[in-house]
Amino acid sequence: KMNTDLGQHVLKNPGVAQAIVDKADLNQSDVVLEVGPGSGNLTVRILEKAKKCIAVELDPRMAAEVTKRVQGTPAGKRLDVMLGDVIKTDLPYFDVCISNTPYQISSPLTFKLLATTPAPRVCILMFQREFALRLFAKAGDKLYSRLSVNAQMWAKIDHIMKVGKNNFKPPPAVESSVIRMVPKNPRPNISYEEWDGLLRICFVRKNKMLRSNFLGTTSVLNLLEGNYRTYCAQNDIPLDDGPAETNGMNGADVLMEVENYKDGLDNQAEDDDPDDGGMDLDDEDDLPAFFKEQTALKLPKGANRKKKGKVHELVREKVRSVLEDKTQLADKRARLCDEGDFLKLLYLFNQEGIHFT
Ligand code: SAM
Repeated sequence: KMNTDLGQHVLKNPGVAQAIVDKADLNQSDVVLEVGPGSGNLTVRILEKAKKCIAVELDPRMAAEVTKRVQGTPAGKRLDVMLGDVIKTDLPYFDVCISNTPYQISSPLTFKLLATTPAPRVCILMFQREFALRLFAKAGDKLYSRLSVNAQMWAKIDHIMKVGKNNFKPPPAVESSVIRMVPKNPRPNISYEEWDGLLRICFVRKNKMLRSNFLGTTSVLNLLEGNYRTYCAQNDIPLDDGPAETNGMNGADVLMEVENYKDGLDNQAEDDDPDDGGMDLDDEDDLPAFFKEQTALKLPKGANRKKKGKVHELVREKVRSVLEDKTQLADKRARLCDEGDFLKLLYLFNQEGIHFT
């Protein structure tokens, strides 16, 4: 019996299963990672072409089933089943990833594959149609998100085929698509963590101006201040740690917090949409506390703001100068920024000693 909470929709169309494996163009020397082998419809086809298949499966009954299916055959020795959640598993080396993905882990799995070094040669992945569209979305599209920017930064993505629900047993509620993700080689010469850290801040509210995402929330500035202190300590840069001249909020700060608050009301429905790849609130449990804090709707609290030190004001000024003077992106909304805008921001922030990790 299938457990649909685990996304157990078995591919019953052998033609589709064969096409997925064929699209990976496997070599006899390849180590393949398969996510969620289920009863092994893809696994047996992978083992025909590859040196080895590492199959990560969460459900012990399924892990037993796929093991039994190849036991005693020559291919059986070339299958390694790892029992567990692929998101929490430290993965061994693999050349290629093939997965009829359980849809609830689409987003964290994609991020995990994009962050993998050395990058796999190719990933052939079945996703819910709408998720696939998010991978392709361009600046300005409704589905444009942190996921889109990351996917297109680190990989080239093609749509391979549409797969209707009736190819699965039981049929899922949604239509599916198989995509090919080819990580760029060589990898772009920037840090994955820095890039993703920048995007997380920009896309916390993708409909807001970058100014308010960066300067309108104490939590983001506190994070950047912490990173800046680490950066200075590592590079022997002395810091003047006295109290700032200004105490608490000035008029502009208050206006911005009020604007944020209203913006929050306007955008709440949209921003809390669990489908928003910018947040992935539903499936990413690595969300730092300050994002949760920022997402919670709050009243302006200017009066309560603690007195900030000189370092905090220095960081705020660096951030302001990058957004307003050096790039003029302060008034742009993340959903309209393209890869070039984000690269420019990262480069100039880093030049100022502002880091995201
Ligand atoms: N590969 C099979 C096929 O194509 O017929 C089954 C695919 S089914 C859509 C997804 C499989 O992923 C299920 O067997 C499910 O138990 C497994 N699964 C769900 N969540 C998982 C996770 N976090 N890590 C590893 N496997 C998972």
